[in-house]
Amino acid sequence: MKPIVAIVGRPNVGKSTFFNKITGTHDALVDNFPGVTRDRLLGEAVWDGREFTLVDTGGFADEDEEIFAPQIRAQIDQAVINADAVILMLDGKGGMTPFDADMVEMLRAVEKPVFFVVNKIDAPQHENRLHDFYRLGVEPLYPVSAEHGYGTGDFLDDLVAALPAMEPAETVGDESLIRVAVVGKPNAGKSSLVNRLLGEERLVVSDIPGTTRDAIDSLLTRNGKNYRFIDTAGIRRKAKVSRKIEKFSVIKALRSLDRCDVALIMIDAGEGITDQDITIAGYAYERGCGCIFLLNKWDTVEKDRNTTRQYMENLRHQARFLGFAPALTISALTGLRIQKIFNMVDTVYDQYTRRLGTGELNRIMERALTHREPPMHKGKRLRFYYATQVATRPPSFVCFVNYPEAVHFSYQRYLVNQIREESGLDRTPIRLMLRQRTGRIDFGSRKKKQMRKRRR
Ligand code: GDP
Ligand code: GDP
Repeated sequence: MKPIVAIVGRPNVGKSTFFNKITGTHDALVDNFPGVTRDRLLGEAVWDGREFTLVDTGGFADEDEEIFAPQIRAQIDQAVINADAVILMLDGKGGMTPFDADMVEMLRAVEKPVFFVVNKIDAPQHENRLHDFYRLGVEPLYPVSAEHGYGTGDFLDDLVAALPAMEPAETVGDESLIRVAVVGKPNAGKSSLVNRLLGEERLVVSDIPGTTRDAIDSLLTRNGKNYRFIDTAGIRRKAKVSRKIEKFSVIKALRSLDRCDVALIMIDAGEGITDQDITIAGYAYERGCGCIFLLNKWDTVEKDRNTTRQYMENLRHQARFLGFAPALTISALTGLRIQKIFNMVDTVYDQYTRRLGTGELNRIMERALTHREPPMHKGKRLRFYYATQVATRPPSFVCFVNYPEAVHFSYQRYLVNQIREESGLDRTPIRLMLRQRTGRIDFGSRKKKQMRKRRR
């Protein structure tokens, strides 16, 4: 699990510039799929080997303090509750305003690490602009230039040093405990579904503390299988959140995704599939969860013969990166197809935790490589050596290659698809990592040897 760092501050102080600077190079994965729209609220960052998630709380175009002040106060409250560290960004060019003192006051008693960053200090001679800010009575002040990068390194050194050590993702001793997260935008029907799933089964339901502060999970036993619904506290007793601070519900979703095996991605089908749904799906994809799409409120959709097909096609088109995720139309209100969800979770979980034998895996790779030869790299032949499964949840494979960086993304995708097709792992994410290895025995030469053997 990664710590979450929230940036707060007045409009135009440079929060999003800073956010882009820090996270810029680190969300390549989903970008491989054109058409994935990502808003820039949350980004992954790494400094000095420490990973964290940065949240940009900005987004008010309004310059009028009367209007933005209450919203920023609400955001600071939320940041303090949900994040592991808070950055208050101040404007070293525009200078201090009375509201800066208000914000500092709000953050004074906070027990989490709080950093006071003065932005737009673009050159050493600008540092005298800091003097004003010392009147706020907080230290240290970090002078930075989000635009040019000046000062950000020193700041990040201190930031990552102050981040709490996160509890490692639960080690699950009990293979039969299936951890399920229910995610989706506000009003998709998450609490209706969870209450129905937990309520309808008049079986064992109990609240147990999750590993994260404030998280309460619910345990459910059904047909001898144990399901743990992640962080259901907020979902079951619906917290009234204002629309303005909805992005923190995304943080909640991220935390649940970090801890789950299978994510139920709920979409309000009545409203149609929106960018926000695809963004959440993108996070689930990045985290390598098993995923199931639930097109909820199907009772409200006007239907003809083609409606389901059209919805599914639209979903597949927008969330191409989750092609392996099954989808189901449901109604949390009427109970339509609710019981089918469990079977789907079981199927996905079974694949998510499956182990392929090394022999089987290497036979699949060998066939794939023969069927379509890897393209040459700078006149050199790419050689694939041995493949092995290094992890489950999700199934993760390492394949040794002479020039890993030269294997084109499309060829990697081809290999993944071959593994899927031949092993039946068609409903789970799969990871294929290429590692460098030089050596003599590759798939080709092994095959030749076998052929020689057969000939004898
Ligand atoms: P936000 O509203 O806090 O997210 O602020 P933005 O990141 O949108 O930045 C507001 C304005 O400040 C933009 O015009 C940026 O180009 C400018 N800006 C951001 N960082 C710096 C900086 O380090 N130096 C200078 N001179 N301008 C900056
Ligand atoms: P959450 O914010 O994702 O937890 O959403 P809720 O479960 O609170 O649902 C939001 C609203 O949608 C509530 O008024 C629910 O009664 C309604 N709702 C949820 N599921 C369905 C459904 O399947 N059909 C219909 N018609 N309404 C639903």
